[in-house]
Amino acid sequence: MSKKTSSVNAATGAYQRAVELLGLKPNIARALEMPDRELTVEVPFRRDNGEVMSLLGFRVQHNNTRGPFKGGIRYHHHVDLAEVRALASLMTWKTALLDIPYGGGKGGIAIDPSKFSVHELERLSRKFFRAIDPVIGPNIDIPAPDVNTNAQVMGWFMDEYSQAHGYTPAIVTGKPLELGGSEGREHATGKGTAITVRETANKNDVALDKSTVVIQGFGNVGSFTAKFLDEYGCKIVGVSDVTGGIHEPDGLEISSLFDHNYKNRTIDGCGQGKNITNDELLTLECDFLIPAALGGAINKENADALNCRFVIEAANGPVTPKAAETLWEKSVPVIPDILTNAGGVTVSYFEWVQNLQQFKWELEDVDTKLETKMVKAFQEVYNIKVEKKVPMRIASFMVAIDRVARSFQLRGV
Ligand code: GLU
Repeated sequence: MSKKTSSVNAATGAYQRAVELLGLKPNIARALEMPDRELTVEVPFRRDNGEVMSLLGFRVQHNNTRGPFKGGIRYHHHVDLAEVRALASLMTWKTALLDIPYGGGKGGIAIDPSKFSVHELERLSRKFFRAIDPVIGPNIDIPAPDVNTNAQVMGWFMDEYSQAHGYTPAIVTGKPLELGGSEGREHATGKGTAITVRETANKNDVALDKSTVVIQGFGNVGSFTAKFLDEYGCKIVGVSDVTGGIHEPDGLEISSLFDHNYKNRTIDGCGQGKNITNDELLTLECDFLIPAALGGAINKENADALNCRFVIEAANGPVTPKAAETLWEKSVPVIPDILTNAGGVTVSYFEWVQNLQQFKWELEDVDTKLETKMVKAFQEVYNIKVEKKVPMRIASFMVAIDRVARSFQLRGV
């Protein structure tokens, strides 16, 4: 199985098991599993040298029973329809689990953005947004950042849509603050991940200020997770990005590492720790291993070699189903993506509400509301896990699917 398709199967396997445990009728289970709509578009754009280049773009709308489709758009050379489809369904379960009034969607373009100039990326982004215009809207489908897209890309999207439809900040979330973005959105996924680690520690009698953490991936999610865990007193002993990893058994100095990475967009050259490979990083001894990069990072080849007490899925789909089985046998709990990284879409929801209200909230308001949502969802999942004696992933899917199924039946077909 390729790493790319791993998240497809991870979602499907957990879905089937949760559906059985919920006793959902097969026809309802099937209706909720199928995506509502899948759009593939051609995105032609002009390179800086004047040549025209064409790429494929996707937007999958999985389910909108509980509200508009919601989910990010990623730029990555691995993107294909199967991956976007799997990620769109994860968004349906994630928004339901956090009980925010959305469904699930996802989009992407098969591109390695590091090989393109900022002007090329702007032209490409605008063309893509124009191509998906017929199926999106502030009450229909609201995109957001995902892998390799950021506030600037959201700004272009918002401008492109607003030129055609009038000023519409609520069309997209994760925007720059100047364009209707929310305080606290940039750090939301990392903050939510850190809260998840803290709650996991509390439930398992682990003292956070004596715990060790390893983080794979130091982009938006990984770097902010490190920052908040450092504030909780955790010792971050290893981190990595695409350039490789660093290991410091006494704990990395997070505030200077964070600043170096924020400025240079890489940990390379930070001058801390011993250089190690990404593979070595995953096998470091620690309490919490946090894969915060791409899907399939923990797979059947490396799962047995892990040396952690808990895996916290900050990326989407980082643990393959085979690896999940191995970890279950090794009694290493996995806290699933749809719970761990839900802070991002939760603050996206707060951003959308502010845009619709045309009223800006203070950072403290946003952070407090995020904390409440994350803790409540964690507790709900934990209760089901204990009651049904199932892994946290299955418990998360049970809470989420039950919520969508009830709304589906109440709305009627
Ligand atoms: N891309 C993020 C996710 O996977 C955020 C989505 C959003 O804010 O809509 O949850």
